[in-house]
Amino acid sequence: MADLAQKVIVTVAPTGSIPTRQDNPQLPITPEEIADETARAYEAGAALVHLHARDPKTGAPTVDPEVYGAYLEKIRARCPIVTQITTGGGAVTLGLGPEERLAAVERFHPESASLNAGSMNFGRRLFPNPPEIMEAFADRFREWGVLPEFEVYDLGMVQNVKHWLIGPGKVKPPFRFSLVMGVMGGIPPLAKHLCVLVDELPAESVWQVIGIGRHQLPLGAVAVGMGGGLRVGFEDNVYLKKGVLAKSNAELVEQAVKIVRAVGKEPATPDEARQILGIKKG
Ligand code: ZN
Repeated sequence: MADLAQKVIVTVAPTGSIPTRQDNPQLPITPEEIADETARAYEAGAALVHLHARDPKTGAPTVDPEVYGAYLEKIRARCPIVTQITTGGGAVTLGLGPEERLAAVERFHPESASLNAGSMNFGRRLFPNPPEIMEAFADRFREWGVLPEFEVYDLGMVQNVKHWLIGPGKVKPPFRFSLVMGVMGGIPPLAKHLCVLVDELPAESVWQVIGIGRHQLPLGAVAVGMGGGLRVGFEDNVYLKKGVLAKSNAELVEQAVKIVRAVGKEPATPDEARQILGIKKG
């Protein structure tokens, strides 16, 4: 059996809700494009895909469950990657309430969904995630068998997860954390801050770093060296390196896998990621 301690979960976030084709002409938008891009990212070593829906005609962000349904169906036909749906993007870009944010998760019960761990100014937009929304999402995810991924944008949000969700027993280990660094309004993208965030995580946490923009790969390298995972993809960064647009999400995954192997580890397969995250398949 594989030594799971030597396995690193590489996540791909192919679209997000903010980048456009002006930012990178290769941004995948339609269900076919998303499935193609996800399958290529899987072949390059990604174990988990984090999905945001876009209107297939206009490319604008949407929370239409039909679009998520098409993504999931086409991705599952192509590869066994772990699937995760956002519950945050609709709040930031569309100003939607909690029920609309949850609609696709309620309908499809994906293996995982994001759970934003506190309110903040996301750039100039208000991103409201008060304790009652965090609690309600955690309760619903538990009922539906969906693994929450806590999206942490600052140190206090780790405390929010511990105090409002773990303390009252609303979530059980292992706890999945994404440490998002470099959003305007959140924690700055510095290695010294990553150390502080990781130090505050509860026992039995499986974490990854999400470095925004040019910090994606450098902070990812720091995270892998510290025992964490990393997320790459156009949601957070459209460049391969300074001045060079990435040709695809898979190209960013290839870079992530090089980082993982450079420190003597291996990328987790989707089934290994399921074991590490405590996801029961099917
Ligand atoms: Zn997202």
